[in-house]
Amino acid sequence: MFYALRKYKAYVHGDIGCYTLSYMKPLEGLHSCICMGASIGMAHGMSKALKEKGKGKVVGVIGDSTFLHSGITPLLDMAYNHSDALIVILDNSTTAMTGMQEHPGTGYTLKGEETTKVNLKVLVSALGIDNIKIIDPLDLQETRSAIKEELAKDGPSVIIAQRPCALFKRANIKSKPALKVDPDKCEGCKMCLGLNCPPISWKKGITKEGSKRKGISFIDGSICNGCGLCQQVCKFGAIS
Ligand code: SF4
Ligand code: SF4
Repeated sequence: MFYALRKYKAYVHGDIGCYTLSYMKPLEGLHSCICMGASIGMAHGMSKALKEKGKGKVVGVIGDSTFLHSGITPLLDMAYNHSDALIVILDNSTTAMTGMQEHPGTGYTLKGEETTKVNLKVLVSALGIDNIKIIDPLDLQETRSAIKEELAKDGPSVIIAQRPCALFKRANIKSKPALKVDPDKCEGCKMCLGLNCPPISWKKGITKEGSKRKGISFIDGSICNGCGLCQQVCKFGAIS
């Protein structure tokens, strides 16, 4: 998501969760992070302060658990006050950063008992948001298209990016075979490194005749789950 957002040079207000780490290099994807729920309030305030200058440039990013904890009220305010910003809810089906705790969107209580599960789309719609898209953040093209379309619309928009956390046992995610970089095809462009995915590293000094490359990327197969995102980023077909 942050890799895709960079292309639009927006002001991105972040929140509290794993995604706060995208503040650092190489993603450098957040411009503010204050407290739980502040991403939406900050995006709302900035869109009002910048008016036309901020059109298509203001984004707030918040996780599902943080949204249900303290993002509902500011989103209601955005709808009520005709704000003009895009809010992205990163729905990984759990509270990953602090240890996979349950929340009202998981369908389980903290004691593990089954309970009512909040439907995020229905909730966001009930708050008065008309522009809502649900996407898979591992589909780079779909993610980019959704961001572009929603940033271009008038009024508040919400993208719900749904994909369970890769470490969430109950989601029972079946890992695909790890991907590899073909050293003959890699041109050393470093685009895949920009994803900040832990298995991808850089091996410098591996040059190739007829190419300006100064090194190649390397994927550590022991921690790659084969999600395929880096494959979508590589323009040289070097990852398979
Ligand atoms: S994106 Fe492809 S060509 Fe570029 S460094 Fe990564 S593997 Fe190599
Ligand atoms: S396939 Fe997914 S997990 Fe593996 S290196 Fe590429 S982006 Fe990372």
